Amino acid sequence: MDPLQRKFTIERPHLRLVFDVLAGRGYRILGPTIREGAIVYDELEAPSDLPVGWTDEQDGGAYRLKKRADEAVFGFAVGPHSWKKYLHPPVLRLWKAERKGDGLQIAPEDEEPPKYAFIGVRSCELHAIAVQDRVLLGGTYVDPAYKKRRDRCFIVAVNCGQAGGTCFCVSMNTGPRATFGFDLALTEVLEGGRHYFVVEVGTEEGGEVLGEITHAEAGVEERASAAAVVARTAGQMGRSLDTAGIKELLYRNYEHPRWDEVAKRCLTCANCTMVCPTCFCSTVEDVTDLTGEHAERWRRWDSCFTLDFSHLHGGSVRTSNKSRYRQWMTHKLATWIDQFGTSGCVGCGRCITWCPVGIDITEEARAIRLTEPAPAKREWGQGE
Ligand code: SF4
Ligand code: SF4
Repeated sequence: MDPLQRKFTIERPHLRLVFDVLAGRGYRILGPTIREGAIVYDELEAPSDLPVGWTDEQDGGAYRLKKRADEAVFGFAVGPHSWKKYLHPPVLRLWKAERKGDGLQIAPEDEEPPKYAFIGVRSCELHAIAVQDRVLLGGTYVDPAYKKRRDRCFIVAVNCGQAGGTCFCVSMNTGPRATFGFDLALTEVLEGGRHYFVVEVGTEEGGEVLGEITHAEAGVEERASAAAVVARTAGQMGRSLDTAGIKELLYRNYEHPRWDEVAKRCLTCANCTMVCPTCFCSTVEDVTDLTGEHAERWRRWDSCFTLDFSHLHGGSVRTSNKSRYRQWMTHKLATWIDQFGTSGCVGCGRCITWCPVGIDITEEARAIRLTEPAPAKREWGQGE
């Protein structure tokens, strides 16, 4: 059988070898770890840096870590960080310039970023990376900083063994099983006193890495156990979103009273855009030193929730909370489809959990849909 189709097992103690082999190949290992009461992504030295035995409880505007009854290594959902912080960094110097005589000499940034190995990438996050690939690599202008990072990264995906309270990947058809975009994919199984991972190989390099780690061919029962883990997770989704005709639904409802209602709650704090793994907007800032001899241009993440973001001559186009929330949600679920051929939302639930007032994109879409007549009863041509 093709090695890319076969499945293997790695026993829990041998997870350490994944780290050793990747480090030996020059990768900087990044993955989930606990910092200040949340599971975030950071540099890892060993599997003991992972949130072993921890889980998270999530709801609108609520996040809490809790001890698990077992020693699961990946027994939690996604936290406030996403992999975009490494592939599309929040702050990045684009170039620097020195005064030379009457002119300026500009030196582009040519530093090579490290080779990243991402451990524990969830299926919704693979879809989010694919969305950013489409936006930052797939158009006329390729983002060179993103490309350098993306080309060199090794991805160890994890099929989710537990859904979070705000997850809705099943609705978005983006999870919980990783189906593409990984070098290796693990499903964690704890049963009958045994703790192991069922492994799928996604690339040739993934196969080479697995070849250096103690592993065995997965048997029928082990494969079935892994499939049961993913099926159980799919049944645990904390949220759902009816995506049928969602683009047209939002286009028909630009003036819906629900936008006024949500605007009363929205703080325009921009949290939802910062935590969203697909949001990619940025701005640039130029800085000089006091002598005027040295200047730099920096790029930093920006958000459609700021007034400046839509500033044209004469002022901001979106001055109200209503216009900014409506722009964000309509972009995610509707105009993104026209722009990039895919939804801008992968159902990770971060914008719901990390909204300080608990605004829920699934609830906002549902509230608008509920006020429309059922499709079968709609008059011909109405709202088309
Ligand atoms: S929806 Fe929530 S997170 Fe997003 S800008 Fe409004 S208050 Fe902030
Ligand atoms: S819009 Fe919200 S649920 Fe959708 S991908 Fe972004 S953060 Fe996740």
